[in-house]
Amino acid sequence: MTTVLGSLEQVLLMAPGPSPVAPNVLKAMGIPTLGHMDPDCFKLMDALQEQLRAVCKTRNAVTFPISGTGSAGMEACFVNLVEPGDAVLIVTNGVFCSRMVEVASRLGAAVDTVECPWGTPIRPEAVEAQLRRKHYKLLAVVHAETSTGVNNPVAALGALVKGSDTLFLVDSVAGLGGVDVRVDEWGIDAFYSGSQKCLSTPPGLAPASFSDAAMDAMAKRRTKVPNWYLDVALIRNYWEGSPRVYHHTAPINMYYGLHQALDNLLTEGLEASFARHQAMHQRLVEGLGALGFSLYVKEGAAPQVNLFVPPAGVDANALRLRLRQEHKIEVAGGLGALAGKVVRVGVMGEGARPEPIDRLLAAVKACL
Ligand code: PLP
Repeated sequence: MTTVLGSLEQVLLMAPGPSPVAPNVLKAMGIPTLGHMDPDCFKLMDALQEQLRAVCKTRNAVTFPISGTGSAGMEACFVNLVEPGDAVLIVTNGVFCSRMVEVASRLGAAVDTVECPWGTPIRPEAVEAQLRRKHYKLLAVVHAETSTGVNNPVAALGALVKGSDTLFLVDSVAGLGGVDVRVDEWGIDAFYSGSQKCLSTPPGLAPASFSDAAMDAMAKRRTKVPNWYLDVALIRNYWEGSPRVYHHTAPINMYYGLHQALDNLLTEGLEASFARHQAMHQRLVEGLGALGFSLYVKEGAAPQVNLFVPPAGVDANALRLRLRQEHKIEVAGGLGALAGKVVRVGVMGEGARPEPIDRLLAAVKACL
């Protein structure tokens, strides 16, 4: 029997996730698998938790990667904090906050939305007005909207509910590692990200963190968490219990990879990583600008997620296909209302370096 593995092409990943994975991360993932109750596995888990607290800027005890992609992080936050009938406010200005609405609604939450225009950052005043009208158990926002290329003002939104009993839930699947995230300072109670974006690890883990207030809310639930696999109290017993209690078999090779990727990030330094993402965003915007492309977002543009409107006569989807076929480079198309109108380019993790940006610029030029 032969596999297809040898025929898979090597593609430069310049979509907004997954991003290129550093060779030392791929190497780490090839370390022989350990059992999930092995003392060395526990040592690795302790180290991972410390790294995640540093990257998320939090002292939250309950900080660990959920097994699954970013969407598992989203499900875990909502399923643990929301019970039927709970009032939840979700601010929407893109595809991923709309997914939050779907997830919370399926749990029976009474969901209200503050709808903000796509492509511009959320206006905190609009959210503040709604919070004055009604009391909510939970306020949820997406930090980096991957569908529009906007970074939302999480600190200002958190300030609206700080000191109140409204919990603050933040999705930074596309932000963590590439732009600043301050879980404690910004008053975030429930937080999740994804391994495959600015953390440059393959998809499969959703780093998450929960404040004491969030854990307290879970402890006071009237009903059982309706999803056993994502029940944070049970998972916590595995990450922190004394003794640790088996919950599900740890995806240990993913832990190896994330551990190495977080070490790469912390060795570089968070501020240096943010500055690198900003500088590479600038390099891309200038390079594509010279070829007639304009940035879709005029205010609050995320350095790590870039949407470009092609020059007249250039079809966004045709360009995307040619980049993949002729140059072995992946960029993404528009989502939702932006389908066919833009190309989305990630400047994420290992993709936020001069060599991949310049390779993409040369390829786009060749396609025009
Ligand atoms: N939230 C945001 C902002 C995202 O960009 C994504 C994925 O692109 C998700 C959630 C879902 O993550 P995943 O596709 O890893 O499940």
